[in-house]
Amino acid sequence: MKVTQAELVISAVSSKQYPQEALPEIALAGRSNVGKSSFINKMINRKNLARTSSKPGKTQTLNFYRINGQFFFVDLPGYGYARVSKKERERWGRFIEEYLTTRQQLQLICHLVDIRHKPTRDDQMMADWLQAMALPRLVIATKADKISKGKIAKHLKLVKETLQLAKDVPLIAFSAETGLGKEEVWAALQPYIDH
Ligand code: GDP
Repeated sequence: MKVTQAELVISAVSSKQYPQEALPEIALAGRSNVGKSSFINKMINRKNLARTSSKPGKTQTLNFYRINGQFFFVDLPGYGYARVSKKERERWGRFIEEYLTTRQQLQLICHLVDIRHKPTRDDQMMADWLQAMALPRLVIATKADKISKGKIAKHLKLVKETLQLAKDVPLIAFSAETGLGKEEVWAALQPYIDH
């Protein structure tokens, strides 16, 4: 897809602020620091539209990025950030869950995990929950440039096994540095955008 227009429409702190438009939405879920902002920026060829930072846990909003006036990328708050209180984490959890279970426009969830490591307990919980809810998803293994090419298949296998991914859940290695996997991800997203 050739991206000609991309804008942050709103950083929502409550469902009342979600865009009214009926455009399809593709949500991004993952641990803080997994590379969600970098993923968005790479997919749309912008250096800095989505805020990247080395300080995890800063984004506690649902960020709606309208792409080509055609669909939204919705960046969900990163989970698994240890340095916030339990109460705060529960609040985010409810916020994310409400969006994922009630939003009509939601078409697909991109679940991002770090290719370098075995998925964490939080990653597993998210994968189990998405599976139980039967929400359409794909899993994107980020930071693939940080391991050698020869090891990618082995790491993908560990992700697949740990998250117990069914055969019909696509799993794609991705790098925001090199663009690896970008076209494959666009191809996987296309049917949901055209929906
Ligand atoms: P977010 O919290 O999920 O939005 O994560 P960010 O996009 O802010 O990324 C967190 C850190 O990981 C930043 O320092 C990024 O530069 C780095 N990062 C993200 N994706 C990649 C990638 O594909 N390759 C490499 N080498 N670094 C990445």
